[in-house]
Amino acid sequence: MRSQIVAGNWKSNLNFQEAKSLLAELSQLKKDFPKDVQVAIACPFPYLGAFLNESDGIHLSAQNSSANDFGAFTGEVHPEMLMSMGIDHVIIGHSERRSMFGDNNEVVAQKVKRAVNAGMHVFFCCGEGLEHRDENAHFDWVKMQIESALFDLDETAMKQIVIAYEPIWAIGTGRTASAEQAQEMHEAIRSWLKEEFSEECANNTSILYGGSCKPSNAKEIFAQKDVDGGLIGGASLKAEDFNAIIHSF
Ligand code: PEP
Repeated sequence: MRSQIVAGNWKSNLNFQEAKSLLAELSQLKKDFPKDVQVAIACPFPYLGAFLNESDGIHLSAQNSSANDFGAFTGEVHPEMLMSMGIDHVIIGHSERRSMFGDNNEVVAQKVKRAVNAGMHVFFCCGEGLEHRDENAHFDWVKMQIESALFDLDETAMKQIVIAYEPIWAIGTGRTASAEQAQEMHEAIRSWLKEEFSEECANNTSILYGGSCKPSNAKEIFAQKDVDGGLIGGASLKAEDFNAIIHSF
């Protein structure tokens, strides 16, 4: 059975003291987190090691990992480095990495493969820009992203994948996809997984929605039958809002 998941993406925000305070606030709240909801936070690389012993009950995730092997790749963080520290979640293919840091479909596929081979759980992000939606090409676009990064994996590896559908036009814009728009894309994604892998894979893969998700809209979005939770950007920076979203199932 697939899991309900709420993952916060802190992006490149918060200095160390601020990040520690936010984690401490979440730690206070976590005793009341619903037992069947998995909670993760993707914080900046340097904080991951420091938070390992303070994040009990909250999964820590990296926001990126390397497409390269070990070696002379200055600034890169190999997924096995993360695993060897006890960090076993990573976001790959976020639209900000795709648009600003050269993570094209090929690079994203390579990153997914390396992370999965290292044993990591991957939040794989996909989503169309406004131009694709306006041209009614959003399904083709998202399918192509999923095909290029995931269809080479085998079904066992797919157990390490959580898909996050994040329409780019809704990220950080305050403009949310409607619950119906989220549902129809999530349903399509599940049907592609069924075609390519199996019904079991389709039923067991969690598919999260991301894009201006907040306490006021999370309930309606999470109530859709193919939405298994959210990847949360801005609203994950306030403990109160993130907590409210966690309680939105
Ligand atoms: C994100 O960047 O993954 C995201 C969903 O951001 P926001 O919630 O701020 O739109």
